[in-house]
Amino acid sequence: MTDSTQLSIAANWIRQSSSVLIASGAGLSASAVNPQYGVGLDYTSVAAFRLLYPRMTQVSTMRCMYDAIGKHDWSPELMWGYLFTHVDKCRFNWGPTSVYQDLKQILSNKPMDSFVITTNADGMFEQNKFDMTRFLSTQGDYSLLQCLKPCSRLSFYEARPYIEQSVPHVHPQTMEVPSKYIPRCPRCGGPMFFCVRGGEWFIESAFDDQRHRYHDFVHRAVHKKNELFTIIEIGVGFNTPSVLRWPMDQLVSDLKHVRLIRINMHAPDVPVHARKENRAIGFDGDAAQIIRQLRDMVIAGKV
Ligand SMILES: [Zn+2]
Repeated sequence: MTDSTQLSIAANWIRQSSSVLIASGAGLSASAVNPQYGVGLDYTSVAAFRLLYPRMTQVSTMRCMYDAIGKHDWSPELMWGYLFTHVDKCRFNWGPTSVYQDLKQILSNKPMDSFVITTNADGMFEQNKFDMTRFLSTQGDYSLLQCLKPCSRLSFYEARPYIEQSVPHVHPQTMEVPSKYIPRCPRCGGPMFFCVRGGEWFIESAFDDQRHRYHDFVHRAVHKKNELFTIIEIGVGFNTPSVLRWPMDQLVSDLKHVRLIRINMHAPDVPVHARKENRAIGFDGDAAQIIRQLRDMVIAGKV
């Protein structure tokens, strides 16, 4: 089958479904090109890092954004100088991008039950004005800070005020923030970090409401056995496959009314049985291009 035949089939599934789930990983934001910078939010790209943070290549050993994850060999002043700058730029000010807008149009093409689940803590769905009552961020969110102890299950806080206070004071050459802007827990005075799944300290309950709504959605979708339930999975690799990739494989393998559209540049394989039964399709091209074509076909309805 040609790619365009497969795209037609995939678009048809979406059009016929009463439930659609978007499951997204790092690959989706990597294809979300910000028009001002001309790059996507690609955590593994050396070029994007140089462009977004030219000073960081001089004052640290970092080569790409991913290097900040679990990094220990930097001073708290540099760590917070970089992280506050990064979160300000990417979590709050990346803005709308065409790939996310295209996805939103796919979901709003007709009334249906839809949901978004993502491993990205970058708030891109919020920045693109998706319905946040139909959203689960499984690995946390850079919009929150939390106590690292943590001293209480409620010790998580909006990061934005801390960021607005400190970013103007990040030194443009050293990228360091003065020590007084290093965040401390308002409850216990201890160190803080972003509320993301970085260790045992992660306050997962900050996302309980999102998780309950996700489970309710899946429950509804899997029980409507006479109606189609399509999963559009984008850019989900093998960093944490047990969070999204394997559960999506499981859903399409177990349930005959589920369809899986997997968009993944490096690993587009889908479960063999589901593929043989024409219920799962994998695309290995650029996510932004495939989603644009899919959007056009879904909206045109000529499939
Ligand atoms: Zn605390």
